[in-house]
Amino acid sequence: MNTQWRLARTPPGGWPVDDDFERVETDMPDPGPGQMLTRTIYLSMDPYQWNRRRNGTEAPGEVCHGRTVSEVIESRIEAYAPGDLIFNTNGWQAYGLTGEGISDFTYMFPRKLDPAAAPISTAIGVMGMLGLTAYSGLIVQCAPKAGETVVVSAASGGVGQVACQLARIAGCRVVGIASKLEKVDFLLDALGVDACVSHKSPDFADELAAACPDGCDVYYENVGGKVYEAVLPLLNKNARITVCGMISQYGADSFEAARKAWGDLGAPTFARQDVTVQDLRVGNYVADYQDQFLAEMGEHVRAGRVIYKEDRWDGLAKAPEAFQAMLRGDNFGKTIVVVGDDPTA
Ligand code: NDP
Repeated sequence: MNTQWRLARTPPGGWPVDDDFERVETDMPDPGPGQMLTRTIYLSMDPYQWNRRRNGTEAPGEVCHGRTVSEVIESRIEAYAPGDLIFNTNGWQAYGLTGEGISDFTYMFPRKLDPAAAPISTAIGVMGMLGLTAYSGLIVQCAPKAGETVVVSAASGGVGQVACQLARIAGCRVVGIASKLEKVDFLLDALGVDACVSHKSPDFADELAAACPDGCDVYYENVGGKVYEAVLPLLNKNARITVCGMISQYGADSFEAARKAWGDLGAPTFARQDVTVQDLRVGNYVADYQDQFLAEMGEHVRAGRVIYKEDRWDGLAKAPEAFQAMLRGDNFGKTIVVVGDDPTA
């Protein structure tokens, strides 16, 4: 039997609750020509999954979408054999099909993994979409120069921790924004950022300004809301912003309204300071940058220049709980659900 979490309803608004998800026991999927059956090992929890559920991209009754690391069990694709370890998109289920006839989004970028190159869980973390998101937003879009000040929000999270380390490697002064003390300490002590400020502090805006004595040249935006408002007055002439995400707004009634407020608030500053603001959609960077990213990040990880922290939850049963915790900010590092045994562990 296969176990799945399906979307129970299109969420009415706000943040996820248990009633949004339905656990189903179902028959094992049978691979057709051009398909393979894979067993989920690691399942990625990502904020964008909530947007898909809220905006109707994911329909009630569908298996909840999610990127995975899996083992091939049975293959009717020549390039793959049983035992291969791959990055794929099984979603929130113990077993899934990959291959022809599976929707494009679901079938996006499957690739074989080499456990000797990096631990396989990193394919949904630092060596996967998250790492490429940090790389394409920071390095490709913002091109930070040595000596510049880079501010990163949600800095201890999956994307943020990679962005901080890439900025540090580029020789920048790195200022992280996080919530709890343990996250602030991790950023300062383990990731080596130059300063870190808690957005929970009543004096957050003043503390951020004090941490940026030379202003802000690059802002890696993950959060929006009051965090963004505190960064705005610090922007230097010719600053660059990558709008990677606005997680503080994902429970708002209208994401479009939140986005418009963000633009309206910044518009005068952007015009005066010649600030460049770019949206980020990581999927647009795969074709041109994936190979270069994997080569560079692989070197950084193997050399210990980039480290990563995972927030692991044991068992597929925990998926809704892990997802809700991550959106509340109760994660510490990249949120991963361990669904099945890792043969390389
Ligand atoms: P994280 O691992 O960073 O987890 C989310 C973090 O956001 C929490 O740990 C919390 O950190 C912070 N957070 C949550 N709510 C708030 C709030 N109200 N105010 C301030 N901070 C908050 O998630 P990811 O690394 O997966 O994602 C980070 C961002 O990147 C998201 O906005 C996501 O949508 C975006 N993204 C965009 C992509 C793209 O293509 N543009 C691709 C992938 C991700 P803390 O406790 O420190 O506040």
